[in-house]
Formats: sequence, C-alpha cells, structure tokens
Amino acid sequence: MSPKLPVLLRDRLGRLLESLRLSVTDRCNLRCLYCMPEEDYVWLPRQELLSFEELVRLVDIFTGQGVTHLRLTGGEPLLRQNLDRLVGMLAQNSRIADLALTTNGVLFADKAEPLKRAGLGRVTISLDTLRPERFRQMTRRDEHQRVLSAFDAARRAGFTGTKLDAVIMRGENDDELTDLIEFGRSNGVEVRFIEYMDVLGATKWSMSKVVARDEMLQRLEERYGKIRPVAETSSAPASRFLLPDGTVFGIIASTTSPFCRTCDRSRITADGMWYRCLYATNGTDLRKLLRGGTANASASREAADAEIANVIAEGWRGREDRGAEERAGRNDRGALIAIEELRRDPHLEMHTRGG
Ligand code: SAM
Ligand code: SF4
Ligand code: SF4
Repeated sequence: MSPKLPVLLRDRLGRLLESLRLSVTDRCNLRCLYCMPEEDYVWLPRQELLSFEELVRLVDIFTGQGVTHLRLTGGEPLLRQNLDRLVGMLAQNSRIADLALTTNGVLFADKAEPLKRAGLGRVTISLDTLRPERFRQMTRRDEHQRVLSAFDAARRAGFTGTKLDAVIMRGENDDELTDLIEFGRSNGVEVRFIEYMDVLGATKWSMSKVVARDEMLQRLEERYGKIRPVAETSSAPASRFLLPDGTVFGIIASTTSPFCRTCDRSRITADGMWYRCLYATNGTDLRKLLRGGTANASASREAADAEIANVIAEGWRGREDRGAEERAGRNDRGALIAIEELRRDPHLEMHTRGG
C-alpha cells in the first residue's frame, strides 16, 4: 500500500506548514550573552522530556501534515545522549527532504562521523568570535578551541553546505564581520550574521546593541567593495549576498527587517509543547495527547495519531502570528519578557524553544 500523500496546510496568512524545529533538550553547555545571560535557570523536569520514540512519532505526524524540513536544536542538542540514534530513526522518514542540526559545536568534533553515518544532512555551527578571550566573555565558558575544531570535523565527516551562524552585538563582536567572513571562506562554510533579537531569554536586549543589516552591509562594502544581493525566492530567513569575488554570505535581519510573511516554521520543545511562532506565549501541549490524553483515551495508536494530526491542522489553520513584525512596529522596545515570568514558565526561554 502506498503511503497517503501529505496534506498542504496553510495558515490564515496563506503560509504553508513546511519546516519544524525540534528541541531535544533545554540544557546548554554555554551561557551566551544574548540567550542565557542569567545566573540561574529553571529547567524542564526530566520525566517530562519526550523519548526518542515519542519524538519520532510526533515528527511522523507532522510530516503527514506537510513538514519536509526538520532541524534539531536546543538548548545544545548534542547534550542529548545518543543523538545519532535519534537521527538514524528520523532518517527513516522519507518525507523529510532536509534533516539538519544547529549546534554550538562544543561537542561536535567527536560526534560528526556517527551523525553523518546516521543520516544527518546538514549542520549549522554557531560561532560569534574568533578570539578566545572574547569567546569566554560572550559565553562564560572556556570552549573556544573545541568549537573551532567543529568546522574541520564537519568537513572530514563529509558534510557539505555547513553554515556558521554568528549573532552580532554592538560593542561585543561587531568588529569581527570581516574576520568571520575570512574564517568562513578558508573553511569552506557560508557565514550568516544574525541581528541580535529581543526574543524570550534575551533579558539584556536593547536596540542600541543591535547592528542592523544595512550597517553590516555598509561596513563590509567598505572592506570588500560592491556587494550584490543573491536573487532567490525562498522562505529561508537569511537574505544572501555576494562579495565581488563570488563569496556568498547571509544576514538574518529578524529585528530590523522581519520575514514573518513567508514564515513556514514552528517549534516543539523537548517536552512536547508546540509553538507556532518564536515569540508566541501560548503553545499546544502535544505531550499530553501523545501520552493518552486524546478525547478517546482508549483509542488505537492510529486513531490517536489522527486526532493529534487534527489538532495540528486546526492549530496551523488558525495561525496568524507575526511576532517579529509586531515587535518591529513598536517604539518602546525592550526585553520582551520579565525574568520572573521566564522563571515561572521556562517554555518562554529561547534555549527551551530552540532558535
Ligand atoms: N545551542 C545551539 C546553538 O547555539 O547553535 C542551538 C540552539 S540556539 C537557541 C539557536 C540559535 O539561536 C543560535 O544560532 C543562537 O545564536 C541563536 N540565538 C539565541 N538567542 C538569540 C538572540 N537573542 N538573538 C539572535 N539569535 C539568537
Ligand atoms: Fe548559546 Fe545556543 Fe546555548 Fe543559547 S542554546 S546559550 S545560543 S549555545
Ligand atoms: Fe515566523 Fe514568528 Fe519568527 Fe515571524 S517572528 S518569522 S512568524 S517565528
């Protein structure tokens, strides 16, 4: 019997459900300034984290609803034990056209080969600075060397299309744009600069720390000469640009030039909460449904999955979130969520939700 064709789900603004970010843990081995600047955090209770079998089941339901792009994230996803086993299980799903991982790179070097063998398609490694002392300052951990080694490990394991993501903060690392481009060029990876966003855990955010896309382009032009945009239409968050020598790089301008209009992404936390926008404060508890909380608790697995698929379809059809665009329209912009509120509900944290 051939598998049923996936449905094409559109939300209220006509956006397709195509891309899913799956957070596999809320824990992290770094404390980046822009993501986890506090001393203490409230963690998700371990017994509430979805098992690999539950994660795979959920992904299967989502791919039945049209998802074709899956990105594993966190927290730091490589802190989840045996992640390569999960990747192997997910790689069996032929509806996933793109199976990717976002990592801070600390633990990547030893895991690159098993992950590649298991079927991981692509990797994005976050690195904000090439200076060890600054790395310590920006992440409060002494792991720079291990992160640097991740790029070489990715290449040796046979990964192609590797990306380097760097969040740019004024006064912290905005003097490293060209150094990062050069590092990317010599390591064969595409660099993407991310504007500092006022998301969730970014409790120290202020507009004065944001370096806007236009300013980054201007600074890069001063060094390299005329920069041209790459002509392409996609729902990918980065606008891509060409240096005169053909080097391609990207800028994710979520803060000053949000791309909500084409956003096909939603996110699941490690304990199964589904959020249809990075900025959403309400999500849908899919764990409860997975663990027998469907309307008919004694339903067969197939019937329960159909019910969960229905909840997802309804949720997506009702989606009208444009979080970053709404934020961009405000002129009283500051940190989005107060610390007390983040402590009450860790689901609101960026490191819980996955970037
Ligand atoms: N720990 C992994 C990592 O850092 O690659 C994956 C999870 S992390 C939450 C995913 C991405 O979110 C990272 O590239 C990080 O730089 C980005 N991020 C976190 N907080 C941000 C903020 N306030 N503004 C912009 N990007 C942010
Ligand atoms: Fe940094 Fe990623 Fe950890 Fe956040 S989750 S503190 S961005 S490494
Ligand atoms: Fe998508 Fe929400 Fe981000 Fe806009 S703010 S791009 S709708 S996740």
